[in-house]
Amino acid sequence: MPVFFWQAGLILLPVLVIAAVAITAILQNRAEVEREAQGRAEEVARQCGKDLERSWGGLLMSQDYYAWQWCAYLASVVGAWPGSEERTQVEADAARSPTLSWQAHVAEWQTQNPGLPPEEVFPDRFLLTAEGRICEGMEFNPAPQPPAWFTGLSSTQRAAWESLEAAASSGADLKEVQQRLARFEETNPGPEAAKNAAFLGLRARLATLPPTNAVGEAQRFSWTCHEALTEAGLPLSNLAFSEALRYARAMGPSEALWKEIREQVLWTPSLLTPGLLAQLGELAGTNATLRAGVDAWRTLWNARLKLHDIAEAIRQSGKLRGITTTNLWIEQGDTRWLCVLNPDITPTVEAARGIRHTNAPLTVVRFLPKSVAERSLVRALANSEVRLPEYLGLAAWLEGESLTLPDRWLPPRGTNSAPLLLAEASGSLSNPVRSSLEVKWEDLPSRPRFVLRLYLADPARLFAAYRRQALLLTGLVAAAAFGALVGVFASWRAFQRQLRLNEMKTNFVSSVSHELRAPIASVRLMAESLERGKVSEAPKQHEYFRFIVQECRRLSSLIENVLDFSRIEQGRKQYDLEPTDLIALAQQTVALMETYAAERGVNLQLQFPDAINHQLPNYQLPEYQVPADGKALQQALVNLIDNALKHSPKGGTVLVGLENQKSQIQNPPSVLLWVEDHGEGIPPSEHERIFERFYRRGSELRRQTQGVGIGLSIVKHIVEAHGGKVLVRSAPGQGSRFTIEFPIKSWNAS
Ligand code: ADP
Repeated sequence: MPVFFWQAGLILLPVLVIAAVAITAILQNRAEVEREAQGRAEEVARQCGKDLERSWGGLLMSQDYYAWQWCAYLASVVGAWPGSEERTQVEADAARSPTLSWQAHVAEWQTQNPGLPPEEVFPDRFLLTAEGRICEGMEFNPAPQPPAWFTGLSSTQRAAWESLEAAASSGADLKEVQQRLARFEETNPGPEAAKNAAFLGLRARLATLPPTNAVGEAQRFSWTCHEALTEAGLPLSNLAFSEALRYARAMGPSEALWKEIREQVLWTPSLLTPGLLAQLGELAGTNATLRAGVDAWRTLWNARLKLHDIAEAIRQSGKLRGITTTNLWIEQGDTRWLCVLNPDITPTVEAARGIRHTNAPLTVVRFLPKSVAERSLVRALANSEVRLPEYLGLAAWLEGESLTLPDRWLPPRGTNSAPLLLAEASGSLSNPVRSSLEVKWEDLPSRPRFVLRLYLADPARLFAAYRRQALLLTGLVAAAAFGALVGVFASWRAFQRQLRLNEMKTNFVSSVSHELRAPIASVRLMAESLERGKVSEAPKQHEYFRFIVQECRRLSSLIENVLDFSRIEQGRKQYDLEPTDLIALAQQTVALMETYAAERGVNLQLQFPDAINHQLPNYQLPEYQVPADGKALQQALVNLIDNALKHSPKGGTVLVGLENQKSQIQNPPSVLLWVEDHGEGIPPSEHERIFERFYRRGSELRRQTQGVGIGLSIVKHIVEAHGGKVLVRSAPGQGSRFTIEFPIKSWNAS
């Protein structure tokens, strides 16, 4: 037994070692894959971060350039008087260099920002005073207040002003108005008050002039009062221009008016601007070109209006304290805007355009919609050399605001667990931005900060190769383990069989010795008695001799069996086939066994079918003439009859029969030679085992019958060597029938 366990151990041990090694390898490989992914993600994050620092800022901040081009086109071409010098000039420039033309820029804008009208982004910047007020020509004030010149009027000045105003608004004649105007001027009012008074005088005078002159006068007046406010706090210039538009109705639109609208919309915006545009629209009438111009100005006006909302939101955010360097996100309309606030360092440029009206330091606010930030990020990532492995997902924040990226960059959604964060990088947009006013690059002191995070977005993809390998390895180990277990099981079976065989062999040796000892002892006894002359009567002597002969025959039959068995075991048993008559064989064998049967008190009979009985004694029936080794076949029959006699009760009958079986569906025609007894029978579970060598039923001690356990195994061997088979039909208490079946076909063939 220990030997077996040693063997099993030797078979299983290598498999266990292989399995252990494979499991460690699999675990290590997984860790390795994860480490690699982590390393790759860190590398990608670092490289992406660097690339974004270099290019994102530029891409982001230069977006306005195209919008600026577009809006400049709206102002200088669409909004300008048809055939005006400016319009002709811009169109000629565009024709000369198409790649630099506004069309090219607008096309570029549209490919880069589909669905986002350029004027959304125009203007891209404005100036804020330390108090958070827009400083851009005349300030647009959505809630105008009476200005200082008005609230500061002395009582005499106020009385003179009110009398002038009453006359002007009641439509008094020009003379009356001029007198009151002179009276007001005598009170020595400030320049702004004087301008307002002069406007009232002008208005009265215009009514007396021919419309052409009235338009010219009003326009000229509007040029002189860009910074003056009316007593209600509205730009005086707007009112003057409105007068010009009113008188122009009589004579139709003109280039001069179209030139002036630019100043009115861009530099003196007020609550009156929409009214002015409406008046201008009326003047344009059905002229499509002019109407398009008015629409262009309306677009530009709306773009400007947006500044005030944004400025207001900035003020309310509380982040603007004096001159600020900061970045923030604000909500305006349906859009989130990134506002980049920096101290204004370009006073000379702005001043040269006449925008700046103060020497106080200002904050320049650049602002871009979130969608532009997102698109420029995608472009910057696409421009970057870094390729994102497919299993990684990228998420980005700009100034704390999470940016929405296309799916390609996103960690997949819909997974329950949050994706694993592998690496993070941050940086700031330190890029120079191109100022839209001149070709000049400036750095943003308030570098907007960004954060990049790389996630393990698709673990299945990452681990695909690893999983295949692990599966293969597991499969191999499982196969090896299975093989080893089968091996152990097989050797366990073999081992068990060997044990059983050994036991049976031992029993066999003791059975054989026992079988030999008893007859030899009695033969010796009788022979000695005869030798000493103790048995004198002739019949008795005869009986002794007969007994001795019979015992010797039995002994030689036993020895024959043992020798045959040994020949069979060694594969030396040979059969000489010659025509053999089965009827004769059965008759002879029964005759041979009769004495033995009589001795045991058992009735041994032949039972032939009628076909044979009719022919007897001339029993030359061809179907029972078969080629066979007669001696061997007789030995098989002897063994069967011997077993039947041994297991029959005293007085019982043993039948030996022969019959011819016709061909059936499954069986070819055959000859059946059978031996039947009415003994204790054999349970079906043992029907196969009784043919095993050395097998004997029951325990060694309880066994009543003689025998050594090789008889049936010899029968089986002989019959199978003849191409036949041995069948048992038996059940406990119902006797047994052993049938030798020779198929005639193979019989004839052999
Ligand atoms: P043995 O020398 O023991 O007879 P065999 O190989 O001839 O060996 O038979 C094997 C076993 O089969 C016997 O031990 C017996 O138990 C059983 N056996 C054989 N023939 C018969 C039978 N006719 N009736 C009952 N049992 C039988």
